[in-house]
Amino acid sequence: SASPSVSADADINAELRSNLAALYRSCLNESAREEAGLQPLLDLVAPVGPWAACNATARAYKDGWTIADGLLRSAVFSAAHSENPPFFYLGVTVDIFNTKRRAVHLSQSSTLLLRDDYVRNRTANLAALAESLEELAKLFGLTMTAQDVRNIIELERKIAEISLPEWKRRGSLLMGNSTIKQLQEDFPCINWTSVLLTLLSNSSYAITNDTPVNLHDRSFFEQLCPLLNQLSSDAEQTRLVNNYLLVRSIWPLLPFTTPAAYRIPEKLTYRIRGVHGTEAPWKICVQSVDGIFGFPLGKLFVDSYFLRDSHSAIERLIDSLMAAFNASLADARWMDEATRRQAVGKLDAIRRLVGYPHYFNNATELRRELGGYRLRPDRYFDNVVQIQRESTNRSVNAYYSPSFNAIAFPAGILQQPFYRPQFPAYVSYGAIGAVIGHEITHGFDDSGRHHDRDGNKREWWSNGTVAAFDRATDCIARQYEAFTVDGNVQVSGQLVLGESIADNGGLKMAYRAYKQQQKPDEPLLPYLGDRYSREQVLFLAYAQTWCELITPEALRQLITVNTHPPGQMRVWGPVANMPEFGRAFGCRPGSKMNPIDKCSVW
Ligand SMILES: [Zn+2]
Repeated sequence: SASPSVSADADINAELRSNLAALYRSCLNESAREEAGLQPLLDLVAPVGPWAACNATARAYKDGWTIADGLLRSAVFSAAHSENPPFFYLGVTVDIFNTKRRAVHLSQSSTLLLRDDYVRNRTANLAALAESLEELAKLFGLTMTAQDVRNIIELERKIAEISLPEWKRRGSLLMGNSTIKQLQEDFPCINWTSVLLTLLSNSSYAITNDTPVNLHDRSFFEQLCPLLNQLSSDAEQTRLVNNYLLVRSIWPLLPFTTPAAYRIPEKLTYRIRGVHGTEAPWKICVQSVDGIFGFPLGKLFVDSYFLRDSHSAIERLIDSLMAAFNASLADARWMDEATRRQAVGKLDAIRRLVGYPHYFNNATELRRELGGYRLRPDRYFDNVVQIQRESTNRSVNAYYSPSFNAIAFPAGILQQPFYRPQFPAYVSYGAIGAVIGHEITHGFDDSGRHHDRDGNKREWWSNGTVAAFDRATDCIARQYEAFTVDGNVQVSGQLVLGESIADNGGLKMAYRAYKQQQKPDEPLLPYLGDRYSREQVLFLAYAQTWCELITPEALRQLITVNTHPPGQMRVWGPVANMPEFGRAFGCRPGSKMNPIDKCSVW
């Protein structure tokens, strides 16, 4: 007979399964979505207004809408629907200068197109956006002319022009320490306290003058207030901002509405990325369920595919990668002793998160975290809104979290081609081993090095060691800038620096860790074993994890914002820097994959 906990476990699993099925079915049910129409979305965004472009609220708008009101309501709305807000992002999370407490975080946000599309005036993309916005205005019956749409795009251009490019704003590098009082003095055009009080009205977090603020992108905010003041001084410009906030509120929710509406953002993205045709609805719906209801899906994924026995095997792999990094710290002649000792302390303090959150194992906690949803197979939009209000997304990626000094390997990555219990060690080390080494190295890359063993952002390296580190990392930045893919696509060495340091360290640690435990009688792979040595297969397994299919257009877009270099470079860089690779494959010294001048940080 089943114990109470087992049946409670079965109950919550059944509930998750039925909600997931309902969400997926509601997404696929195009006739129900058509029938629900666009009114639910218009109703949802109505309280963010009143909107000048909606007949129902145009009069209320005329009665005295201000940009300050609009920004306040739109910040609250975006936070509730986990959307990218217009203008700026405001939220509360861990204080990166003191990880034992929380702080307000403030940073620039994004525009509908990428910053580069405006700054480099990519007219084809701008024209595609104009077409999409006109389509949107027509579909929703908005009072918005073609000129109004052009004005929205010009406003986005102004925002893009004061925004910092991604290569300048990586990680916590630009983050400054401030307080609410200081923020209000520095940037008085927005009443930060009242925005925060509204945003946090359901939370116990108290806002005072001394509340710490982690301020990102200071130069953006220095230019934002003059822009907002200029816009506020003119009735036509004020109406423009009102139109813009309406579009920004509607836009991210389009994918959950009628078939005609959800094709608008899809069509725009596809045009910009050079993709033809449309995505199959079932694929969109699988991605959507994963994106908005990821943790329940993750729970079922873990139940079906994560092998609990692999937990200890992964822990042993992590142990061996930690030992390899420890050896690398001991070898780093460029570090002074005091800095090295602290670095060893930080390495020892790294916390590991493997597989899935602890609460997956406990029916009561599981119910508290993921239970209680009432999703219906014929109400897609309502389902999404219900989930957005309550949930956070599951991460499928491995990651290093600087503020927690923790590395995480969710069940999603502990699968082929990264990991399988049956893999011989040389395959495991080349694939998941390099990922583990990569995440560890992040703690000591150009951004992670600013965080101490408790995750606090502070300078704990000596000046001499910093100078030597900068020389080694410059080498990497220059090396990656010299790579081109697809003819002439070049990355920004600064944008991809942290990831490249981590890739280089990761593969090197994986190779060393493999060599430490290598057994002479380890079987060769069938087939490949006749042609490739174990060392060669380790590098092949590494390269295989970075296979990808991408259009040239998407690649050009991505390299301006993605801190990860394209897959090809993630292979070229690290192998070219390892003499062991040149030896394994017999590459002539001075050839492309085995250059004489190699870069090495860790
Ligand atoms: Zn990374």
